[in-house]
Amino acid sequence: MRDGDDYIINGEKIFITMAMVADFIILFAVTGVDDTPKGPRKRITCFLVDKDLPGVTVSPLALLGNRGFKSCSIALEDVRVPAKNILGEEGGGFNIAKNWIFSGRVMLAANMVGLAERAMEIAATYANTRRAFGKTIGAFQGTSFKLADMAVDIQATKLLVLDGAAKMEAGTITQREASIVNLFGSEMAGRVTDNALQVLGGMGVTKEWPIERMWRDVRVERIWEGTSEIHRDIISKDVLREFAV
Ligand SMILES: Cc1cc2nc3c(=O)[nH]c(=O)nc-3n(C[C@H](O)[C@H](O)[C@H](O)COP(=O)(O)OP(=O)(O)OC[C@H]3O[C@@H](n4cnc5c(N)ncnc54)[C@H](O)[C@@H]3O)c2cc1C
Repeated sequence: MRDGDDYIINGEKIFITMAMVADFIILFAVTGVDDTPKGPRKRITCFLVDKDLPGVTVSPLALLGNRGFKSCSIALEDVRVPAKNILGEEGGGFNIAKNWIFSGRVMLAANMVGLAERAMEIAATYANTRRAFGKTIGAFQGTSFKLADMAVDIQATKLLVLDGAAKMEAGTITQREASIVNLFGSEMAGRVTDNALQVLGGMGVTKEWPIERMWRDVRVERIWEGTSEIHRDIISKDVLREFAV
């Protein structure tokens, strides 16, 4: 709500990464409703909010994985934010968010390539050294074919990331393309870490090896930059639009 030269902001958002250590919060708030040919549309504005302002409360959350950083919930109660703290223009928040979201989705998949490569390296090294029934376990196709699937998955994601990054750079990436990269990369990392853990057998679930941590850490990747279901929703709607009759 506008009040003179300020906005009074109320609301709550759960899951804000690193909010405990941040000095400022980049906040998207509804500052009105516009009439458009497609009907009423919320006017979204982006603000830079000083975390020390009265009315801002940050509470940490404990997570399954990624314990090296904190996720938090943020509550705002009658927080007075000067209009000069608007990033971009009033009502221009969606375009700012869109650019971040698209690049975030490509970056997520790039991270997953690195993580999956490390998981494959650990699994392949283990398969070359652990012996069972008189052979290294890599000699059993039940193990080695998992490594083949990992290599295919990783290579495919790498190519998707390179394509997505080139389109980001050129400013031509579409919502569908960003979702495809994110969906494939996050699910790929789930498959690879799960198979890597399986290759290590019982050792995979111990703290002796980093695979259990990687397996836990990647679980959120299918959630936090848009859930797999939301990505499938975006992609499928676009496919249906493309072939509309
Ligand atoms: C550790 C962590 C850190 C995060 N950090 C940040 C951050 O820094 N900043 C930030 O803004 N957000 C952050 N998020 C929030 C994240 O973006 C959301 O968790 C994510 O978008 C999913 O929203 P949700 O949790 O409300 O799930 P919900 O929307 O409640 O979804 C629950 C389930 O319902 C399904 N579902 C919901 N709607 C549909 C639909 N239309 N069609 C099909 N299925 C549907 C979902 O796919 C999911 O399976 C973080 C989340 C986590 C877990």
